[in-house]
Amino acid sequence: MSAYDLSQTLSRRLTVLGSTGSIGVSTLSVVAHARATYGEEVMPLEALTAQANVEALAAQAREHRPRLAVIGKPELYGRLKELLDGTGIETAAGPDAVRAAADRPAEQVMVAIVGAAALPPALAAVKRGATLALANKECVVAAGDLFRRTLAASRATVIPVDSEHNAAFQVLDFAEAHAIDKVTLTASGGPFRQWSRERMVSVTPEQAVAHPNWSMGAKISVDSATLMNKGLELIEAHFLFALPAEKLDVIVHPQSTVHCLVSYADGSMLAHLSAPDMRTPIAHALAWPRRMESPSQRLDLAKLGQLTFEAPDRERFPCLALAERCLREGGRTPTILNAANEVAVEAFLNRRIAFFDIARVVEETLSQDRSNDAMPNDLDAVLALDARARAVARDLCRKLAA
Ligand code: NAD
Ligand code: MG
Repeated sequence: MSAYDLSQTLSRRLTVLGSTGSIGVSTLSVVAHARATYGEEVMPLEALTAQANVEALAAQAREHRPRLAVIGKPELYGRLKELLDGTGIETAAGPDAVRAAADRPAEQVMVAIVGAAALPPALAAVKRGATLALANKECVVAAGDLFRRTLAASRATVIPVDSEHNAAFQVLDFAEAHAIDKVTLTASGGPFRQWSRERMVSVTPEQAVAHPNWSMGAKISVDSATLMNKGLELIEAHFLFALPAEKLDVIVHPQSTVHCLVSYADGSMLAHLSAPDMRTPIAHALAWPRRMESPSQRLDLAKLGQLTFEAPDRERFPCLALAERCLREGGRTPTILNAANEVAVEAFLNRRIAFFDIARVVEETLSQDRSNDAMPNDLDAVLALDARARAVARDLCRKLAA
């Protein structure tokens, strides 16, 4: 252990939900770096979970030695057992086992599952009072009210990992919340920032997932290409930081160096800068309230030369405008927006619908819900609304594909 004593912080036990994804793999690289720096005993692992990549999960478990490894797809249970035979690592399978993994007594839980599927395990971790490093945004968008109420009734703490929200968490003066004028999230603009609308019509999944600055999972890469990601992030910020729609804004910043800007009543604007490397917010969240070494890239501002900013184009990126509408309207719309988007992005990745059809499916799914009800605030009701919206969106995708 170094002179700067992190032993208490780094002795916390950690569970990683979604360990084989982009954030999961980066998380384990931060853990490995911490062990090499501070001692092999730091950041002991309770559980690792993955959905389908059983070979990768087993390799991670052999290397990082959690007590438990869980595979989401039940049909892969036999293979997982075989791969971990003789290691002494417990194994389990199925969605209930993923949720049960979040319930095990790890002080920290990294929520790095993609999509609203993260909601049941994330809520389980909140209920038992864990410290969440929250990368997943869909669970906050789909169930913001429920998430906030459950959090308020628990001893849990949520440290955002999404880079803009982690940045906001670092520069927000929570004690002076009344003096916050605006929180501005930056967007890289994605791979089509400078493309004409005509050219964007025939975008392929390969082009959409080739992000200029970040290497991420397929779903969030498509969301970044449509700017739906930034729209989801506005809603995420609304629920995480209790900020009204009019205090939230987006600016395009192609260098992805400034992640968030907070403007205060006295005219000050505080920004958070770092290289576009998720290992920085991951390390921040895992060491919080202290700070630790991370293997992240460092910023070289002289080499970068300039930072530029521009307004987003809501005509070419209708998904941003749709999410902003849901942010303002509230009620059930964020749940429906998220569910329809998950279905449409999957259909686009499977080449069943075109790039602009993503926005069409989301808009049409939203317009088919005529209810002005509030967002449901129990889990079963959220999951039922999510399932209904998915069914509508699937039907629309089928019609567009025909
Ligand atoms: P990914 O697709 O690379 O990984 C997803 C992980 O979740 C995998 O381990 C997968 O096995 C697991 N998973 C998938 N479906 C599941 C299901 N139904 N049940 C249980 N587990 C399931 O995704 P990612 O890019 O790592 O993103 C994860 C989350 O973090 C997303 O919500 C994303 O928006 C958010 N996020 C990611 C980044 C990034 O740089 N990748 C940045 C900010 C926020
Ligand atoms: Mg982000």
